[in-house]
Amino acid sequence: MIPDWLLILLVVVCGACIGSFLNVCIFRLPRGESLLWPGSRCTSCGRTLSWYDNVPVLSWAVLGGRCRTCRAPVSVMYLLVEVITALTFLGGYLWYGLTPLGGVRVLFACALIVLFVTDLQHKILPNAITLPGIAVGFLCSLFLPPGWRDSLIGILVGGGVLFGIAEVYYRVRGHEGLGMGDVKLLGMIGAFLGWKLVLLTLVLASFSGSLVGGAFIVSGRGDMKYALPFGTFLAIGALVAAIWGTPIVDWYFGFYG
Ligand SMILES: [Zn+2]
Repeated sequence: MIPDWLLILLVVVCGACIGSFLNVCIFRLPRGESLLWPGSRCTSCGRTLSWYDNVPVLSWAVLGGRCRTCRAPVSVMYLLVEVITALTFLGGYLWYGLTPLGGVRVLFACALIVLFVTDLQHKILPNAITLPGIAVGFLCSLFLPPGWRDSLIGILVGGGVLFGIAEVYYRVRGHEGLGMGDVKLLGMIGAFLGWKLVLLTLVLASFSGSLVGGAFIVSGRGDMKYALPFGTFLAIGALVAAIWGTPIVDWYFGFYG
């Protein structure tokens, strides 16, 4: 029997390593580059990184966030992604234990981490994440919560209905309010969490989006257009919905259902 502290350590180390891979996805997917080849390089001097430059969290800390060769600063975002992914794995383990549902929810959270950062940095939600995400979410729901019916309706509600809203908005206002990337992301969230939680995600994202947008206006830093991209709010909303959504929805439907 493996002692619990050792298991927790393994989960955290595993999470940091996966976080390192998520960094590769975050950097390469928006640029249309291959994930597998070539190996990691310094984006400044192009030097291929050796394994000891690639140890999650530790390399960044030891090198003070700079390239070993050219001393160019390495974005703190790399470190944050590794730390947050490690914490996600720890949270998933403490919340669900080593269960299939825990594995699926952690996978879902990893996809959200990538999408959050690519939307923040490039305003891109790569199809390479959202489209397979819809399929994987649905396949997992054949065996696990929310169940395939809920998942299928979730995809239709998230993807289909919002696609309609986006179309109408575009026709009426003449510019995109809700991008197609957001629609596919909502389809993916619906596939993993079911229709109730994808609606909750939309409510949470719209609410926090208007709060931040309002704060931007009040602070005189520009209007809503310059606020954060909507996909970042959807990613955070989905994470909240995945963790605390079921009690919130039960409470709501308990009152009104
Ligand atoms: Zn360098």
